[in-house]
Amino acid sequence: MSSKKHASTAPPSFASGSTIGILGGGQLARMLCMVAQRMGYRTLVWTGGQEAPAAAICDEFLDEPFDSLAALERFISLADVATVEFENIPAAALDAVEQSLPLRPNARAIRICANREAEKSFLRSQGIPCAPFWIISSAEELAAAMQELHGPGVLKTSAFGYDGKGQRKLDGSEDPIRIWHEFSAPRAILEGFICFERELSIMIARSANGDVRCFDPVENLHRHHILDLTIAPAQISDDLLDCMKEIATRIAVAFDYVGIMGVEFFLDPVNGIIVNEMAPRPHNSGHHTIDACYTSQFEQQLRAVCGLPLGSTKLLSPCVMLNLLGDMWPAENQQPDWQELLADGACCLHLYGKKRAVQRRKMGHATFLGEDALARVTSVKNQLLTKGQTL
Ligand code: AMP
Repeated sequence: MSSKKHASTAPPSFASGSTIGILGGGQLARMLCMVAQRMGYRTLVWTGGQEAPAAAICDEFLDEPFDSLAALERFISLADVATVEFENIPAAALDAVEQSLPLRPNARAIRICANREAEKSFLRSQGIPCAPFWIISSAEELAAAMQELHGPGVLKTSAFGYDGKGQRKLDGSEDPIRIWHEFSAPRAILEGFICFERELSIMIARSANGDVRCFDPVENLHRHHILDLTIAPAQISDDLLDCMKEIATRIAVAFDYVGIMGVEFFLDPVNGIIVNEMAPRPHNSGHHTIDACYTSQFEQQLRAVCGLPLGSTKLLSPCVMLNLLGDMWPAENQQPDWQELLADGACCLHLYGKKRAVQRRKMGHATFLGEDALARVTSVKNQLLTKGQTL
């Protein structure tokens, strides 16, 4: 297999006209492709065999699973630089890509973020505050951990967990043998339950030469464990904002990270800011940056991945991002009535072109700009939910 790794020690950069290879073809890849198109780059999307909203926008796509050798060879031969739009890429594919192309962020960072056990262990090893946790691979280990925790917790699968999937809340009184049997995951972590005041997140970008830029931290509100609203900027003290930026920077430096990363936090009334998890890619809570910042998170990803200077992260207007989930669609293949949303006049609608509106599936988002965005978003959201499929 040919290798395009550069011999020089200076980090390579890629001019417009180069091809960005993207592992994963969901909405995050789609929005990156849109920026790439605007900035004169070519895009190659490897879907992994999943439905791929990015396929309609990219220059070329490989609709093959990530274990296809033929797809790997083609990806490597066509792409100049590679990045990911989600972290659950098989390690073999990530390693093979990294051996042949600059992969930004690097495979180690992606692998750690994809596995809660590795992620939490990494945070602990760096001395970064996170919820107390125990690594569990048997009913006996769960019993011992529950005894030590002595209170409510959350049991989470080590792999393939997102949007609250693969999680179970425990009050501490359950029978560990029954819980472990029902949970049926080979490995998990038990986390102490955090009675957080707020959930917050930050998007951070680090360039190939080590420059770091953070977007303003935001506050996130969830519905059914899925992000519902992002409020930008978060209304918290400067000390807390600085603390989030400092922690995100420490993580990015420790990973020798190149690209965009989301870091999610809990604001704990006792311990202050603690990390929940990291996403080694653009993040749903950074979507407002498309309409409300000088540089969007997707342009920042492109800039970092291609070795270009990072852009300004300045927020031009306070805003609220509303996730548009499948339960707002009147029926699986019937579009909502966008009249009220569009009549707002300061709301930007983004739809991902997904064919089927399944309950809780992320179909699009809308960013409401202005000081009064929260009041306006509430009215539109309620109208969409009322006319949508049953909750
Ligand atoms: P996650 O997939 O780990 O981001 O978890 C999804 C959501 O579950 C989070 O956004 C929180 O609302 C909640 N959650 C996760 N872990 C904890 C925890 N240790 N304590 C309290 N709530 C949690």
